[in-house]
Amino acid sequence: MPSANQIEAWATARAASTVIRVEDVHKYYELGEARVHALRGVSLEIQRGEFLAIMGASGSGKSTFMNILGCLDRPSSGQYLLEGIDVSKHDKRTLALIRNQKLGFVFQGFNLLARTTALENTELPTLYTKIDKAERQKRAAEALAMVGLADRAQHFPSQMSGGQQQRVAVARALVNHPSILLADEPTGNLDSRTSVEIMEILQNLNDKGLTIVLVTHEHDIAQFAKRVLVFRDGKIRKDEPVLHRPKAAEVLKTLPTLED
Ligand code: ADP
Ligand code: MG
Repeated sequence: MPSANQIEAWATARAASTVIRVEDVHKYYELGEARVHALRGVSLEIQRGEFLAIMGASGSGKSTFMNILGCLDRPSSGQYLLEGIDVSKHDKRTLALIRNQKLGFVFQGFNLLARTTALENTELPTLYTKIDKAERQKRAAEALAMVGLADRAQHFPSQMSGGQQQRVAVARALVNHPSILLADEPTGNLDSRTSVEIMEILQNLNDKGLTIVLVTHEHDIAQFAKRVLVFRDGKIRKDEPVLHRPKAAEVLKTLPTLED
């Protein structure tokens, strides 16, 4: 159980607007004799309500950085504060709890369980919480409605398109009401129209206050965010606001639909 002090620290951090604070983070991977210096002094602040896109060539450190933000890995040196919590000071079990409560993840592969309905897939992350069954199902249904899939709750992944499956994955990421959504190439397996549909959902969620960090290779996709970061050789080379940000809902009107 977290101590009273911890709970107080969490509450204080929640009130403040900085959700993520990264200070001079380095990451080394040891590979036998060799040592890969994957992050070379990354510092960054992300405020509540931001929508950040991370770009950069393959091998530039994007996934390494996302793994650290997602508490799936720890920095070799430097500091990472997530809502004021110093992540390096916690053991694996606590990290797993923090991760499950504060973060939602969406990946390139949808990673849905095949013999499990959309509703049950969405409900999965709530199984590790103390929420009771009725509330779990209510939250899962709400999350599915937020991604426009209320009418697909009883469908299995094989009965849904790629875009619908990715929307279930987004619903699953939302079900514990996270502070931050982390998405690593969420449109990497989707055609362009479906990709923009996913970006429409992310923009809507961001408009409701959700903080989003997205990794993408595609410049067009990054433009739907509010701020773009470019990684090169383990460092941030560029950090700029998006000046003429398109609304995905508007862009969709200009794109051909499948029937066309
Ligand atoms: P990106 O996501 O931008 O393609 P990565 O963060 O995956 O980049 O990789 C950054 C660097 O770290 C690369 O040189 C990569 O080969 C190396 N790397 C990534 N993961 C590992 C690992 N688990 N073990 C060793 N080296 C790794
Ligand atoms: Mg990567």
